[in-house]
Amino acid sequence: MPFYRLKTGIVHVKGTRLPAPCSVRFCWPTTGKEQDCMAPSAYLCDGANEANRSGTCDAPLCELHARQIGPNRHLCPTCLQSHGDSDPQSGLFTSIV
Ligand SMILES: [Zn+2]
Ligand SMILES: [Zn+2]
Repeated sequence: MPFYRLKTGIVHVKGTRLPAPCSVRFCWPTTGKEQDCMAPSAYLCDGANEANRSGTCDAPLCELHARQIGPNRHLCPTCLQSHGDSDPQSGLFTSIV
């Protein structure tokens, strides 16, 4: 039963088979503080991470934070940076790190 950040605030959602909350930390424009996104995730990061058993980063990502790099392949902001793609929209992520 994950906690999600929805428009109404932090919500404890009951149920099973729910997507994990988005794990991206970023600076909220409204508060100026760095916080976890916590929006319901739509994707998992496909970036390489050998520290994980799966071999991929697997960070849960919401629509806002998933960057599509190919068919059914998405990267979190951290992996996108190490991916080294010059991305015209990378300005969206400059507040992270
Ligand atoms: Zn997010
Ligand atoms: Zn990642």
